[in-house]
Amino acid sequence: MSVSLTDAKSAELYQRALQRLPGGVNSPVRAMRAIGRDPIFIDRAEGAEIVDVDGNRYVDYVCSWGPLIHGHAHPEILAAVFEAAQRGTTFGAPTAGEVEIAEEIARRIPSVEMVRMTSSGTEASMSALRLARAATGRTTLLKFAGAYHGHVDGLLAQAGSGLATQGIPASPGVPESATHETVIVPWNDGEAVARAFAEHELAAVIAEPYPANMGLVPPVENFLQLLRNKADETGALLIFDEVITGFRVAPGGAQEREGVTPDLTVMGKVVGGGLPAAAYGGSRALMERVAPAGDVYQAGTLSGNPLAVAAGLTTLRMLDEAAYMRLRATTETLAAGLRDAAAAAGVPVSVTSVPGLLTVFFAETAPRDYATAQRCDHDAYAAWCRALLARGVYPPPSQYEAWFPSLAHTSEHLDRTLDAAAAAFGEVG
Ligand code: PLP
Repeated sequence: MSVSLTDAKSAELYQRALQRLPGGVNSPVRAMRAIGRDPIFIDRAEGAEIVDVDGNRYVDYVCSWGPLIHGHAHPEILAAVFEAAQRGTTFGAPTAGEVEIAEEIARRIPSVEMVRMTSSGTEASMSALRLARAATGRTTLLKFAGAYHGHVDGLLAQAGSGLATQGIPASPGVPESATHETVIVPWNDGEAVARAFAEHELAAVIAEPYPANMGLVPPVENFLQLLRNKADETGALLIFDEVITGFRVAPGGAQEREGVTPDLTVMGKVVGGGLPAAAYGGSRALMERVAPAGDVYQAGTLSGNPLAVAAGLTTLRMLDEAAYMRLRATTETLAAGLRDAAAAAGVPVSVTSVPGLLTVFFAETAPRDYATAQRCDHDAYAAWCRALLARGVYPPPSQYEAWFPSLAHTSEHLDRTLDAAAAAFGEVG
């Protein structure tokens, strides 16, 4: 298999991009700095494969970071988008599709009786927090170190050490006043959670039920239930950010798999089918606080955009039981194959997975929180990713991200991936 792909056109575009786009990209992780290489500019994609501007073809495990559960350019989704576009791209007035997608979401997620659509996951989590603060009359939030809920000021707060800490802004430009009301504790640390609830009158705890922004670090047993119990005892709301897990790990997301019901759910990625859409939802009583039913203001020019709704609704309707079984089998085959390939090459890795998501951690034991994820061998991960790219496999270019296998990945794609992975492990081992 070739290990010398040309990248002259990507390199040229990158030089031009650097003049007009900060860092040459419109979202930081695309720059591939975490794996020590320049970005690859994409020309087109179909199914599980993407093709760059130099004509190199890759088996894609980023899949736009999660929306493309059916793979790229799925004919039914494209047809739905074209059909919607022919009737007009946006109206600023309600459409039937918005009612249908809300009904479809509520059918899949019983805790979501009503939804409000937004254009990004960031907006959806920001709005869910506003609603939680309004509903409880409190301001302080609890989040987990290493969890990402979009670039909301109040949630861009740094991790503390072992103890609950007041949030310190993780980016210049985020005022301390914005993170002052954010308490951060380590993921999977029940004692730290209990202390935080005891020391603060919390409006809400927000969690990715399967955190996937520090690599995939599933909850230890009963951890999500502990969050539910503590919220109930203290009158705080439990918010699950299912932007990644929603409609992916099960029809009703991680809350269905884990049997723990949040008060509010944040959705994104799959719900927009590859177009810009996200949503938040919960019980009728809570959601009827949102304007114009209630007094909590939140709005959006393109919210519930007809093209995005068409893509999202078609995506959801194609996700039947058989699809979830297939995605689960694909993920398990891939995870097991990657473990075996690493072991054969003598490279110490630990692969975490849930249906539709996995992470290859360059560490002997799987991380249980952000601090342990930070101790993985990031240089080895970077070298391995570069070696995969050279062999036509496109992994998430950061140790802190998850792989997104899709329903378009066939056994032939998995074979190609595992051959490349074995060779790449051999190079870094
Ligand atoms: N929440 C989670 C768990 C995410 O992974 C992301 C983005 O990756 C977001 C929220 C923010 O979504 P968006 O990038 O659409 O603003």
